[in-house]
Order: sequence, then structure tokens, then C-alpha cells
Amino acid sequence: MAASDLHFETRCVHTGVDKDATFLSATTPIYPTSTFRWDDLNGHRGFDYTRSGNPTRRALEENLAALEGGIDARATCTGMSAIVATMHLFQPGDHLIAGHDIYGGTYRLFDSVFRGMGIDFSFVDMGNVENIRKAITPKTKGIWIETPSNPLLNLVDVRAVCDVAKSSNLITIADNTFLSPYLQRPFDLGVDIVVHSTTKYLNGHSDVVGGAVICKTKPHAEKIGYIVNACGLACSPFDAWLVLRGVKTLGPRMEAHQRGAMALARFLDGHPRVQKVYYPGLETHPHHALAKQQQRGFGAMVSFDIKGGRPAVEQLLAKLTLFQLAESLGGVESLIEYPDTMSHASMNEAARRAGGISDQTLRVSVGIEHPDDLVADFRQALDTVTA
Ligand SMILES: *Cc1c(COP(=O)(O)O)cnc(C)c1O
Repeated sequence: MAASDLHFETRCVHTGVDKDATFLSATTPIYPTSTFRWDDLNGHRGFDYTRSGNPTRRALEENLAALEGGIDARATCTGMSAIVATMHLFQPGDHLIAGHDIYGGTYRLFDSVFRGMGIDFSFVDMGNVENIRKAITPKTKGIWIETPSNPLLNLVDVRAVCDVAKSSNLITIADNTFLSPYLQRPFDLGVDIVVHSTTKYLNGHSDVVGGAVICKTKPHAEKIGYIVNACGLACSPFDAWLVLRGVKTLGPRMEAHQRGAMALARFLDGHPRVQKVYYPGLETHPHHALAKQQQRGFGAMVSFDIKGGRPAVEQLLAKLTLFQLAESLGGVESLIEYPDTMSHASMNEAARRAGGISDQTLRVSVGIEHPDDLVADFRQALDTVTA
């Protein structure tokens, strides 16, 4: 059967395996080698140097390309290096449009690294496509899409943005980290290139940092492959192997993550100490209808504003037992973090407030623990908050 005929869960398990013709191992071997022997001066067996290519990494790349529906993928050493690779599609003098509430590290990379190299950016509220249209100048070459946004889970209408991009001949790049290809397929919505931090749901076990760029056209795939090799951005064979192992359970994990997230969001939504809950799965979320239409589920990131400012935040954090105070997301264990001083510290305060992040905003990455236990932990912790 062709990979494209198989269901998503089956592709997760069966793509990028069956690579060991010598012993027929059931999983893909790790090839921890820097170099590969040539048969003679006329050729080698497909790999010559691990920065340029490695069988374990290649297996992961086949898998990720199949999951997103692209023609090729490159697995990189971090999510940021995947983003750096895509930025090499642009040149000094070019202008890009991005959301004002994108991942803090991406904002920093654009605003302080690539701006210094002569690429200009406009950060706009992408909730309204009109803002994008207004920001387009003759120098605009690309649009950076991140949906749902971090940490407030605002959605971007990807199809509408891509329509605008196509009419002005702009490249669209989507960071699909927050939902994974199990819940959102940007290529189906018109996007040109997809990037991931595989650190999050794709690996799913909080034991590796990695990234990926997936392309749907040959020119983009060739250019990204060239850049990843030339700049030395590829991931190690060990890390590739870990992500390939993690991705096999992506579907069932995402279902479990979402069950917990929905239960927690509903509980928080009705709690007297909670001011506001940000979760696209709630009917009251401003983009609930769009989420139902462009996503296959609502994801497992839940943010909320607690009443009582930072003192209340500190009291809550001291009492939670199942939620580790830590940045990152997408692992099987639940995490909670405080964007103001943690994930979004790389944005200045004015930018955080403009993006809607307050001193009482918390972000939860809901793991795959039993939903009742997660809700019970929050109930007992919120009961002790007096601030
Ligand atoms: C984590 C993350 C990144 C950066 O990935 P790293 O693996 O930490 O380099 C980029 N975008 C989003 C949405 C992320 O959550």
C-alpha cells in the first residue's frame, strides 16, 4: 500500500522503519557515525557524511514528510534551527509579516537577529486578515503563521491568510508545533512550508530538543536541504531516533492530551478564582467555530488568568503536585509555566501586555495523566489561594 493510502496513525508507526536489510530489525537502527565508506571513487551507498545525511535522520524525515503530507522534510537540531533554515529563503531588504503573539523565541530571532541582518518585520494582529493586507508593502516576501498562538491560543484563519498571500505572491510558512499534524494540516489549508519544534508533541516525551522543516514543492525542498547542510543545522542520529520512536504514538497521545485539556478547561472556566480561560475547545472562545473548521481537535494547551495577580500565581504554584513548573510543552507529563517571567521573558513588557499576557496569566501543557487526577490537583490547589 502507498503511504498516502494509509491512515494517519498507521503512517506514524510504519513510515521510516524497515531500514535494516541485514538483520531485519523491527525498529530503525541508530547509525552513530560521522562518516561513511565509499565503495570506490565511483560512489557510496547514499550517505557520505552525517552533517549532510544519515540513515536514521533520513528515516525520521520520511516519517515527518508523510505525516504533514509534504514531499520532503529536514530534521534539525532544534525548532529554532528549523526556523533559521526557512529564514534563508529571504534576503536583506525583504519584509515579512508575522503575528504579534508568536512564540517568544521566534519573535526574538526575527526582531533582534534577522532585523539586524536587514530583513524587516511587521508584527500584526492576524486575527483580522485586513491587518495583513494593510501591512503588505512592495518589499513583502513572506507571511509567518502560528496558530493557535502562544500563550493565549488565538487562532489565525490559515486559508484566508494564504489567499491573501497568493494574490501578492508571498511565501507562507506555518509553525505547526502547537497542534501537530494529527490535529492540523497546514498544507491542506494552502501553506507552502511547515516548521516544527519536534521537542514538543512530535517527540512527546520531554527528552530531546529538535526541529523540522517540511516542504511541498521541489524548489523549496532543495533549497532547505542545501541550507540545512551548508549551515550545519541537522540533528544527531540519536536525537532523530528518539523522535522517530516518540512519533509512533502521536495519535493516541494527542487524544489523551486533549481529553485532559478539555476537562481542565471546563473545570477552570467555572471556578470563582479564575478570571478567564483561553482554550479553543470552549464554546465561549472567540475562535471556537474556526477551530472546529480548520483543526481536527482543540489541542492540549490551556491558558488562564487567575484572580489576585502574582501573589495568587505563587500560592497556586506552591500547591500543585502533578504540574511541574517548567517551560516547554507537548510531553506526556503535565507542565505549568508563567509566561511573564518564563516562556515570554524574551519579549519586553510592553510587547507582552500588547499581546494580552498579564501578570496573572498561566499556561498549562496538559499531559496524558487521567483527567480526574489533573482536575483534582487543580481543585485542591485553587482552594488554598487567598490572595
Ligand atoms: C518550542 C517552540 C519553538 C522553538 O523550538 P525549540 O525546539 O525550543 O528550539 C518554536 N515554535 C514554537 C511554537 C514552540 O513551541
